[in-house]
Amino acid sequence: MDEFELIDRYFSGRGARRGDVPLGIGDDAAVLAPPAGRELLLTTDTLVAGRHFPADGFPPDAIGHRALAVNLSDIAAMGGTPAWALLAIVLPQADEAWLASFAEGFSALAERFDVALVGGNVARGPLSITVTAAGFAPQGQALTRRGAQAGDALVVTGALGGGAAGLRAFFQGAAVQAAPVRAYAHPEPRVQAGRSLLSRAHAAIDISDGLLGDLGKLLYAAEGLGAELEAQALPLAPGASREDALGPSDDYELLAAVPEREMPAVEASLEGPLFTRIGRVTPTSGIRLDGRPLAGAGFRHFA
Ligand code: ADP
Ligand code: MG
Repeated sequence: MDEFELIDRYFSGRGARRGDVPLGIGDDAAVLAPPAGRELLLTTDTLVAGRHFPADGFPPDAIGHRALAVNLSDIAAMGGTPAWALLAIVLPQADEAWLASFAEGFSALAERFDVALVGGNVARGPLSITVTAAGFAPQGQALTRRGAQAGDALVVTGALGGGAAGLRAFFQGAAVQAAPVRAYAHPEPRVQAGRSLLSRAHAAIDISDGLLGDLGKLLYAAEGLGAELEAQALPLAPGASREDALGPSDDYELLAAVPEREMPAVEASLEGPLFTRIGRVTPTSGIRLDGRPLAGAGFRHFA
């Protein structure tokens, strides 16, 4: 099977069919027709085998799901609506069963979120997958990390710690279909929740580095503000401990700072993922849990 057969067999026509894709896979570049009056959101993420997912025994459909989900989560965190994706895949060999399963996991999620796969690349090498996703937000309204204010309620979607608990369960030999592993293998991008935060939240971020790490980024962007969290309020995923919920867990839930006056509307907008209030933004810096300061709540690159 050469590269073109591989693309044809596994990737052409996958994902949603959309009217704003005059030309998708097959030419030197895709031709896309962004809607007037909206801004384009663009994001990319790479998953490397053995670093971002287990190198052995992890199901290819879950790798396909995660590769797209982590990108859709970034679009969701901006309050955006995803539309298009590019898929660049580096493979040690063209294993047909692997490719079929991978493509199925990717496409099922793409179809569910109305995302068209419009192009990509295939190369030989150590397994890694890079997805670039594009979406739209109303002009000037995309939700950013910047803008949290003292007194804002801190809310999260879904449950926390599921990524860490799921990975632990996987390495302990739990079935991939078991609830804790599923939370890790098939994170749900919170697109609808992100949209319902548009024009209501002051700031939002997706929790991909753990609650404390990403809360740290939100507060860093707000310059000098802090946060007070309530341990009792943290919604724990199946099998997750409080440490899992606070620490570096691959969760892909949303964290938002919402002014009190908007909280009734945010709570009422719930269909699907629950928003849980876990604390509030404080005028003084540092993160406190039940009144006690937490050390090392910042974030580090290449730590
Ligand atoms: P080029 O050599 O011009 O970069 P390629 O021959 O690599 O193009 O790819 C042919 C077409 O297939 C292009 O439209 C490209 O976007 C698409 N494509 C390549 N790999 C993938 C993939 N993994 N998933 C989706 N589309 C792909
Ligand atoms: Mg190419």
